Amino acid sequence: EKVYGVSNWGGGYFKIGANGNVHVIPDQQQSSMKIDFSSVIKEIREENIQFPVVIRFHDILRSQVMNLNESFNSVIEEANYKGTYKGVYPIKVNQMREVVEEIVDAGAPYDFGLEAGSKPELLAVLAYNTNENALTILNGYKDEEFIRLALLGRKLGRKVVVVIEKYSELLMLVKISKELNIEPIVGIRSKMRAKGQGRWQGSSGDKAKFGLTVAEVIKSARYLEAQGMGHTLKLLHFHIGSQLPDIRAIKDAVNESARIYAELHKMGFKLEYVDVGGGLGIDYDGSQSTNDSSRNYSVREYVADVVYGLREMCDLENVPHPHIVSESGRALTAHHSCVITEVVGEIKPEGASISTELIEGEHILLSNMRALLVGMDDNINLQETFNDASQWKEQAAEAFKLRVIGLEELAKIETLYWQILRDVQTRSAEKTFTPEYTNVLDSTLSSQYLCNFSVFQSAVDSWAIGQLLPVVPLTGLDTPPVKNCSLVDITCDSDGKIDQFVIDHATSSVLPMPAVSEDEKCYLGLFLTGAYQDVMGDMHNLFGRLNEVHIFSHDDDPEDFYIEEIIKGTTVEEVLSIMQYHPRSMALDMKRLIDKQVANGKIRPREGVKWTDFYEDCLSGYTYLNTD
Ligand code: PLP
Repeated sequence: EKVYGVSNWGGGYFKIGANGNVHVIPDQQQSSMKIDFSSVIKEIREENIQFPVVIRFHDILRSQVMNLNESFNSVIEEANYKGTYKGVYPIKVNQMREVVEEIVDAGAPYDFGLEAGSKPELLAVLAYNTNENALTILNGYKDEEFIRLALLGRKLGRKVVVVIEKYSELLMLVKISKELNIEPIVGIRSKMRAKGQGRWQGSSGDKAKFGLTVAEVIKSARYLEAQGMGHTLKLLHFHIGSQLPDIRAIKDAVNESARIYAELHKMGFKLEYVDVGGGLGIDYDGSQSTNDSSRNYSVREYVADVVYGLREMCDLENVPHPHIVSESGRALTAHHSCVITEVVGEIKPEGASISTELIEGEHILLSNMRALLVGMDDNINLQETFNDASQWKEQAAEAFKLRVIGLEELAKIETLYWQILRDVQTRSAEKTFTPEYTNVLDSTLSSQYLCNFSVFQSAVDSWAIGQLLPVVPLTGLDTPPVKNCSLVDITCDSDGKIDQFVIDHATSSVLPMPAVSEDEKCYLGLFLTGAYQDVMGDMHNLFGRLNEVHIFSHDDDPEDFYIEEIIKGTTVEEVLSIMQYHPRSMALDMKRLIDKQVANGKIRPREGVKWTDFYEDCLSGYTYLNTD
């Protein structure tokens, strides 16, 4: 448990059981409920679903929706705050229909709504957010169609708020709503001075891509008033970036927005909502710090800072407490899904070795290296041995380029080098003091485990922005780890790797691994992938979407679960079609080519049929390695 820091980043949803397997506790309200990942893997195999697989725990989604709403409601009550909480889920974070439906369903008792940031998202949100008491918030850049769709929502009796990102959108909104004679609900996004920190800090400040300056905010309000529509301005919105690591940025932004809200109110614009956007972070590395992959606050603290921050300013300014809207996406979805991949090979740094026996007249570099290995004993200075071996290996590479030593001598020197390093590692492990070189040694000697997945499809942020995602072997954790490794995927791209891992309260370039036996498959879980990873993954090397399994727990049996839905991943012919190939005619062409060889007597007819069928089977199969 400590090695992988599961309880630090797991949000209470994951733990390592006494049997050494990772368990999921899908409902925090019922801690006796736990599902063993090994049972999930068994069931997936029995269903003949190929790995890698995305697992969605719908109970976790529901639980997160409930936690956020209950937190706001209880702090609002405790603070005697006069407004209510009306949250929305920004579907950009994970647009999967099943995810959106689950959130809408779990959020129904709280009138929890949806947010859209583009036309396709708006079309989805209009169809799925049918609760007339829930908000539909529309951010992002808009065209006339976008605005007409928003007004269609108003016609259907929905609380659709068009958030103005730039001034010209307001002119368009006023014109079209007058033309259609439909009253809009207008929101404005303000560019904030309060700076977010972390990877998305560019979302605030003068150079922010979205929002109005304070001058534009006033101009917009006055324009609406002049058009007889001042009363339609109902919401003030800000968003200073996702994954805010430091609570102070949130406090600052809430304070600034409350001031703007209060001033507008005193100018006669009776806004009803303040929308604090997203930004509620996830503690990916479990360090509870201001690291980019962490956060130094809890959900409860975030909620309290929003509620009390607004209350304090409104009371000072003597204006009513607004209803509070938040647009948390990451915090709702990150925990609910994970990717299970299998280890399909090990790439050892030393590769194979050759015999290093002495030959008359060999080069001194080779003799020195051999002497170093032979001379290893309990009294040897290990650091010096490591330094010498490393230096001589580099010198040997130079000597080879300069034609001073031959290929065989180079291979022997390298074989000896790896033997020395292994010996130094074993001897260092017995010492109580671990000097710095042992970290370099560990990482140099660690294997790369080849895993059946694509980083670009399943963990794209780990490649694109160095986002940490916890990785844990799913079984065999009842005994201490036996070796360290990093992970590489099956794409033909050297960037397709994971070499930053969450270990206890820190990060490490290697992942400790339990013993992997030859005849048992080793499965790894890539956790906290439910936010953004699912939808931003790409098709590098034509590896498509993964097979998906949706899991629910059984109310009557705390350790049981059922697969509610299986969604097949992309097939080869589907990815090829996206790239403008015509798989059906390719199959016909292949058949023709094979038939020609049959006619020429190069392939026997029976064999020809088999090859044709095989090609077609591969076309309709999964894009990942078939390991069964
Ligand atoms: N609202 C807006 C306007 C956003 O741009 C984003 C994402 O950056 C979000 C909400 C969701 O933020 P988060 O996932 O941090 O909750």
